[in-house]
Order: sequence, then C-alpha cells, then structure tokens
Amino acid sequence: MNAQRPVALVTGASSGIGRSNALALAAHGYDVVINYASSKDAAHEVALKAEAAGARAITVQADVADEDAVLAMLGRVDEEFGRLDALVNNAGTTVNTPPSDLDGLSMADWDRVFAVNVRGLFQVTRAAVPLLRRSPHAAVVNTASIVGLRPGPQPFPYAASKAAVVSLTKTLAGALGPEIRVNAVAPGWMVGDWMEDQLGDDYDRLMERRARLTPLRRCVTADDVAQTVVSLITSNPFVTGEIVVIDGGFSATT
Ligand code: NAP
Repeated sequence: MNAQRPVALVTGASSGIGRSNALALAAHGYDVVINYASSKDAAHEVALKAEAAGARAITVQADVADEDAVLAMLGRVDEEFGRLDALVNNAGTTVNTPPSDLDGLSMADWDRVFAVNVRGLFQVTRAAVPLLRRSPHAAVVNTASIVGLRPGPQPFPYAASKAAVVSLTKTLAGALGPEIRVNAVAPGWMVGDWMEDQLGDDYDRLMERRARLTPLRRCVTADDVAQTVVSLITSNPFVTGEIVVIDGGFSATT
C-alpha cells in the first residue's frame, strides 16, 4: 500500500527527543514509524498521541545495532506504507564511566556505544536508502551532540561516537545527494532523564550553572530539538551536510 501522507521513521522514539520528533512530525502531516528497543508501552503511548494528531502510526521494535532487525524494520515500513520520506536517526546510548576513569571503562561498553550510535545509524540509513530514493523530497536527520564538536565531560565512547555521527553526516550527504539531503542536530545538555542519569545528585546545580552560561539562559528541551529537526526535514531544501547546534548559544560563546 502506498500512503498518501509522507512517512517518517524515527529511531529511539519511545522517549525524550525521539518522542518529541515523532509527535512534531505527526503534527506536520507525517505518518510515523516509532522505533524502540525495549520500551514497548512508552512507544505505544507515543503512537496513540501521534494518531490523536491525525497521523497513522505504527511501533516497531528493533535494536538498531542488530542488522537483521533493522532490515526487518525497513521491510515492515515498505509493507505498511510503501514509502519513506524522512529518516530521523535518533536512537542513542551511553555509559556512566567519566572520562577521568580511563581504567574503569570496559571495552564491551565502548563497543556497545559504537554499535548503537555509529554502526546502528549507518545500517538503518543504508537499509532506508532504497525507499528514501523513491521520495521526491527525502531527508535524513541524525542526532549528534555538541560533544561531537568540542570537548566535554561526557564518557569517551559517547563523545567519540558523536564525532563519528558528525563525520558520517557529511560523508552521507556527499554520497546520497542529489536525491537525499542529510543533516544533523547537535543538542547541548538537555533537560530530562538522560542528563539526570549522567549528573546524578549534581543535576540541578550543574544544569542551572549551564543555563547561566547560556546566552538564552536555559538548557535545551526535547521540543526545541524537534522544532529544528522538523524544519530540516520540511524546509531548507538546499541545506545538506550541515550540523545544527541547538544549545542556546552556549558553545558559540564559551
Ligand atoms: P532517551 O530519552 O533515553 O531516548 C533514547 C531512545 O533511544 C529511547 O527511545 C530508546 O528506546 C532508544 N534506544 C536506545 N538504544 C537503542 C537501540 N539499540 N535500538 C533502538 N532504540 C534504542 O534519550 P534522549 O536524551 O532523548 O536521547 C536521544 C538522542 O539524543 C541520543 O542519540 C542522544 O545521544 C542524543 N542527545 C541527547 C542529549 C541529552 O542531553 N539528553 C544531548 C545531545 C544529544 P528504549 O527505551 O526502548 O531502549
């Protein structure tokens, strides 16, 4: 079946930025495929909200690091919608080992972060390309991070994986034009569970300090990121290979 509305696949859409992306795309006239790894109920809830916004929405469980699961997911998109117009590579993971603890970092953790954040992004994109090429206005948006562009206190494999996302975004833009535009967003420290998990008891203090050092005087939210993601997909027709920093001006001024 060929859907009438454009279709977007958002990986890691059960919470946070992915959830906001899926709902914002639904509100902008897209049908949405909500990918998740393990949070089935949360993904289902996002689908219900997207449907309330007028979209057709399906949930698909797939670990983006598992290529067979990724191929099955794109097969399902083809079967259900017969088209794909936008791909948002948002699924991401990290570890809790701070950069000061070089010896504490396990190589299994290093490999897992790269398998999800880097190989996962590549294999989802590769599997999506045949469908995207059939769309008249195909766009991919990857989720990088400001720590992929400048040093930060994040764990080594996470920072390095996001630098790889920046590199992949530019190389993919060259490889997939002129049919498919490929850009990335690079959010700063975002309000919510991810940074709470990373900063622990220091969350409130460090987020407030970060907000004070930010020209726009607050930290980014998932909805801020989604607005930029939607604009990269639905407008900016001559923009590809770019990394849009979303941090209220923090990294431009410090
Ligand atoms: P989040 O709320 O924890 O969301 C992560 C999402 O990724 C969840 O939907 C999770 O699904 C999914 N996911 C994790 N591993 C997966 C896998 N192997 N396969 C498929 N899905 C997987 O975190 P978030 O803060 O919104 O982060 C989303 C993206 O933004 C990540 O790429 C992250 O690196 C990036 N980012 C975050 C921040 C920040 O401050 N929060 C800043 C810059 C960039 P399940 O729950 O089902 O596992």
